[in-house]
Amino acid sequence: MDHVPALQCTLCGETYDPEREIYTCPNHDGVSGILEVQYDYDVVLDRFDADLDGSIPSQWKYKPFLPVSADATPVTLGEGGTDLLAAETLSDRLGVETLVKDDGRNPTGVLKDRATSVSVTKATEDGVDVVTCASTGNAAASLAGYAGRADLECRIFVPGDAPEGKLAQPLTYGADVLAVEGSYDEAYDLSMAVTDEFGWYNRNAAINPFQVEGKRTVGHELAEQTRESVPDWVVFSMGDGCTIYGGWKGFREFHELDLVSETPKMLGVQADGARAIHDTFHDHDDVDDVADTLADSIAVGRPRNTLKACKALEQSGGTSVVVSDEQILEGERLLGHTEGIYAEPAGAAPVAGVRKARAEGIIDPDETVVIVVTGNGLKDTKSALRASGDPVSIPPELSSVVELFPDG
Ligand SMILES: *Cc1c(COP(=O)(O)O)cnc(C)c1O
Ligand SMILES: [Zn+2]
Repeated sequence: MDHVPALQCTLCGETYDPEREIYTCPNHDGVSGILEVQYDYDVVLDRFDADLDGSIPSQWKYKPFLPVSADATPVTLGEGGTDLLAAETLSDRLGVETLVKDDGRNPTGVLKDRATSVSVTKATEDGVDVVTCASTGNAAASLAGYAGRADLECRIFVPGDAPEGKLAQPLTYGADVLAVEGSYDEAYDLSMAVTDEFGWYNRNAAINPFQVEGKRTVGHELAEQTRESVPDWVVFSMGDGCTIYGGWKGFREFHELDLVSETPKMLGVQADGARAIHDTFHDHDDVDDVADTLADSIAVGRPRNTLKACKALEQSGGTSVVVSDEQILEGERLLGHTEGIYAEPAGAAPVAGVRKARAEGIIDPDETVVIVVTGNGLKDTKSALRASGDPVSIPPELSSVVELFPDG
C-alpha cells in the first residue's frame, strides 16, 4: 500500500504504520482515538486514469483511492455505481429541486456494501479467517454477504429486536447471528470485548479505520455525477455518523484534487429519539444517550463518530435537523408514492429532513438538493406497512371490486 503512508489519530495526531493491526490510538483512556487513513495523492493520481464521464460500473472505478494494495483482487458483488435520479414529483412536493441517489440498490440493499467490500478485501489480503461486527442490522447483513462471497467465517452481534428481514438475510448468507438481549450499544460493547479476546477481524465502522474509506466512494460518485452542476446540499441520515463523513470526505478530496469545481453543504438528519450528533453539533447542554426510534439503522444512543460527523457538517458549511418517527414514515410513503423508490425508515429520513429544512428556511427554494437513500425498504416491511397501511381484503368476487371502483 505505497499510497497509504500512515494512519493518523484524530485526537492527538500520532501516526501509525498502516500494515500494523491496530484499530484505535492507545493514547486515550476511555475515549476512542479514532484513526484516519492518510494518502499520498501523487501516487493515487498516478494510478487513476479513468474518465469522469458518469459511467460507473462499480465503486472499484476508484480503486486507486481505496486503502488496498494496487494488485489486490476486490471481493465485490458490484457495489456502488448507483444512479442519480431526477425526482420531479418529489421536488414539487418538497418545494425544492431534488435528486435521489438510491443506494438501497446495492447488493445487500444498503450503502454500507461500499465499505464492506473494502474491508473484506483487506481481510482476505491479510489472511483473516473470522470477521465480526456489531450492527443495528444492516452492517451485519452486509458483512455476512461479503463473507459468504469470500468464504470467510462471519459472527455478528445484533440487538435482539432488529427487524426480521435483517436477521433472515445474514442467516441466509451463512453467518452465526448472535441476537444480543439488549440495545445496539450493548451489542457493540460485546463485539469489542470479543475482538480483544479472540482477535477476530472487527468491521465495526467507527473504529475500523479502513471501513469508512469505502463510504467515500458515494462522495466520489456524486462528484462525478454532478460535475456540471454541483448541488447546494447533499443529505444523509446519521446513526454513528460514519456515512455522512465518508460521503463528505470523498467529495472534498475530489474538490481538493481539482476533479470537481465546488463542494455541497452537508445536511445530516437524525431521529428525534436518537439525536446525540445533532445536539452536540448545536452545542445543546444535555446530550442524552437514549435511542428511541423506529428507524432502527439510526437508533444509536452513543454515536461512535460524532467528531467526524460534526467535522463534515462544519467543514461543508452545512447543518443538521431532527425529525419525528411520524415524519420519517411520511417521508417513506412520499418517496414511494412520488418516485417509485422503496426505502427503509433510515433511508427515507432525509426526505423528512429536507421538508423540515425547507420549513425552517435552512434550504432555500431556489437551491438544489441530493437525497441519499441509504437502505432498501424490503429490509423492514413492518415499518413500511405502518407507513402505508394494510391491503384491502376482499372475497374472490367481481361484485366486491365493482363496489370498490364503481366507475371502473
Ligand atoms: C448504517 C445506516 C445509516 C447510518 O450510517 P452511520 O454511518 O451509522 O451514520 C443510515 N441508513 C442506513 C440504511 C444504514 O444502514
Ligand atoms: Zn491519539
